[in-house]
Amino acid sequence: MIGIIGAGITGLALSAFLEERGVPHLVLEAGERPGGVIRSTVVDGHILDHGPQRTRVTPELSRLLKQIGLDDEIVEVSPDLPLFVCRQGRLRQVPFAAHGLLRTNLISTRGKLRALMEPLTRSWTDEETVGAFVSRKFGREVYENLMGPLFGGLYGSDPGKMYVRHSLATTMERMGISRSILWRFLRGSFNRAAAPAAISFREGMEALPRALYHFVSHRVHLSTPTSGLRRGPGGVGWRVFTEGGGTLDFDGVVLTIPSERAAELLQEEAPESAARLRLLRYNRLAVVHLKGESGRLHGLGYQVAYGSRIRTRGVTWNDSALGRPGVFTAYLGGARDPDLLKLDDGEIAQIARQEFREVTGLDTEPLNVSRMRVPSWDRSWTVMEQLSLPDGVHLCSNYESRVGIPGRITRASLMARELAGLPALRPKKVLAQRQTSGSAA
Ligand SMILES: Cc1cc2nc3c(=O)[nH]c(=O)nc-3n(C[C@H](O)[C@H](O)[C@H](O)COP(=O)(O)OP(=O)(O)OC[C@H]3O[C@@H](n4cnc5c(N)ncnc54)[C@H](O)[C@@H]3O)c2cc1C
Repeated sequence: MIGIIGAGITGLALSAFLEERGVPHLVLEAGERPGGVIRSTVVDGHILDHGPQRTRVTPELSRLLKQIGLDDEIVEVSPDLPLFVCRQGRLRQVPFAAHGLLRTNLISTRGKLRALMEPLTRSWTDEETVGAFVSRKFGREVYENLMGPLFGGLYGSDPGKMYVRHSLATTMERMGISRSILWRFLRGSFNRAAAPAAISFREGMEALPRALYHFVSHRVHLSTPTSGLRRGPGGVGWRVFTEGGGTLDFDGVVLTIPSERAAELLQEEAPESAARLRLLRYNRLAVVHLKGESGRLHGLGYQVAYGSRIRTRGVTWNDSALGRPGVFTAYLGGARDPDLLKLDDGEIAQIARQEFREVTGLDTEPLNVSRMRVPSWDRSWTVMEQLSLPDGVHLCSNYESRVGIPGRITRASLMARELAGLPALRPKKVLAQRQTSGSAA
């Protein structure tokens, strides 16, 4: 029997894949609801997503959606919608093809000429950050106006503090980029129509964990926070302690919970690993939902170029991207502006509202402010390179492998395979987790 700790998307997807393979297991979730950071609510009749706004549908996710009966609920984001970067107070369209790159007013002619030298530059080095790497290859302007805001926006992070080897390297590897990014761009690899579609669901992103939960509900115990992890009787398997005073014995345990919670569980049996996990940093974000006139803005939304006095990092236009009338979702804070989170919700909402009006001309009313966090994948991830877990304890989490939902699904599928005793297909983005021996199925 396998114990899965946490019923966010990772724990639930892992449960569904184990169910498919006939591996007995139980999922223990602290909260009253499944889904973790994927949460949708209805405020004044508007569907709001507090965590992810959308996901790409990889073939694996597509298969899962059919299996859990959610494929009819999909709302697809049109790949033709323009994406913008706000630079010097104005929205400028992001180029995704060669002709757009030549014409864009996001980068000066001088900046474009500098970017053309990229194929002549070396590949990344071990100690190079994404910020240093992109600036060296394309020049500072492309980094600050385009690649920095787009890449950093995915993590609410600061690419100047993220090592290429922990983050961008995997993306480039997945895209088959060994040396020149520009060359792949010119060959159409960044064409969004060719990428898996971006989607949400009619009732918001939480429909995904909800449907997964229905599929495996007989395996999931909600409102069951775990507080300890010890070797089982006679040193065989693992005993999980719950806050309610109960114990459950498992052959192996998979931790899908945030790093500081995983550290608490590992403290007794693997104090050195626990100490490492405590060093991982998260970026704190404020997510502000705004309500304005529908149909005035057409696009996916925008990110903000570096060097701007604007504190909003980016805005998703749910109105045109997902057909949610009048709804816009602004992100503030993150690694480049951590002090913003010291403000109260009302002050944050006013900044989001005022800056949105300055940039788009559209007046809005704040609907909601949520405070979220995302693993920063910054230099602190170096501690993960030497992480060693006891035999039979596994990490399957968004600080050990990719953060995005498609990455979570892929990792859960690989973990299920491993636990089912099938030959492991190691995902590329798993940082070294040396197990002392074997697997726990
Ligand atoms: C603001 C934000 C925006 C994002 N945007 C996108 C996006 O647009 N597209 C995309 O693909 N991805 C996005 N992501 C990333 C993605 O949503 C997350 O990486 C993913 O949902 C994490 O899922 P998880 O199951 O690994 O972890 P979590 O969702 O954190 O789930 C962990 C679960 O463990 C439970 N738990 C914690 N401690 C214990 C304990 N001691 N015992 C039992 N249970 C416990 C928690 O209650 C929780 O339910 C975003 C994330 C955030 C925060």
